[in-house]
Amino acid sequence: MTSSQLSNTITDRIAKVRQQLPETVRLIAVSKQVSVEAIREAYTAGIRDFGESRVQEVAVKQSQLQDLPDITWHLIGHLQTNKAKKALEHFQWIQSLDSLKLAQTLDRLATSLSTNPQVLLQVKLLPDPNKYGWTVEELFQDLPALNECQNIQIKGLMTIAPLNLSEPENLTLFQNTRSLAAQIQEQNWSNIQMQHLSMGMSDDYHLAVQGGATMVRLGRTLFGERS
Ligand SMILES: *Cc1c(COP(=O)(O)O)cnc(C)c1O
Repeated sequence: MTSSQLSNTITDRIAKVRQQLPETVRLIAVSKQVSVEAIREAYTAGIRDFGESRVQEVAVKQSQLQDLPDITWHLIGHLQTNKAKKALEHFQWIQSLDSLKLAQTLDRLATSLSTNPQVLLQVKLLPDPNKYGWTVEELFQDLPALNECQNIQIKGLMTIAPLNLSEPENLTLFQNTRSLAAQIQEQNWSNIQMQHLSMGMSDDYHLAVQGGATMVRLGRTLFGERS
């Protein structure tokens, strides 16, 4: 990111990114480690989808943003099953659903909380020891059991590209993730939809859009470097 971009306001950066994105792509502003003042500025600039990776952090922010009731909060970080209930209380979307066990926990809790969270299945098509998520093989094994989780709404796939891929490799990864979603869709599961693909962060969102992303998750591009 150049210094001239950094000197722009959050409002300017949002306008610029929005201009570059196809209208159909949903912009998720990743506000982890970002102040509530900055979140307010993004809200005023039109953002209604915010991504956070920690339950405690979002709870504090929500208590200070109660006058902005139409925000949709997306969990994008790994969730431990012992925090699943809290996550359901604070997030409408869980993009980082990364195991059958967690899906079943959320499914059970969703009944008692009478909520129907929207979720994305986090996949990793390339080996990445630092990332959670299903491999393709594991995911196909778990689909029948995921389909039984009637209280969560499975809406698509989420992926995080490994660091240090070349641009062509990165694009191929996104295209392959889209193909995987198409393959799953073709199996006509009753409770698994594949209309959303959350792919792309500040460094690779152009490639993600090219590869078929319907959601991009941008932090630094909108809010600047995190401290
Ligand atoms: C932090 C984070 C982002 C945003 O990353 P930037 O590089 O700041 O755009 C997106 N997705 C996930 C899963 C993240 O953890």
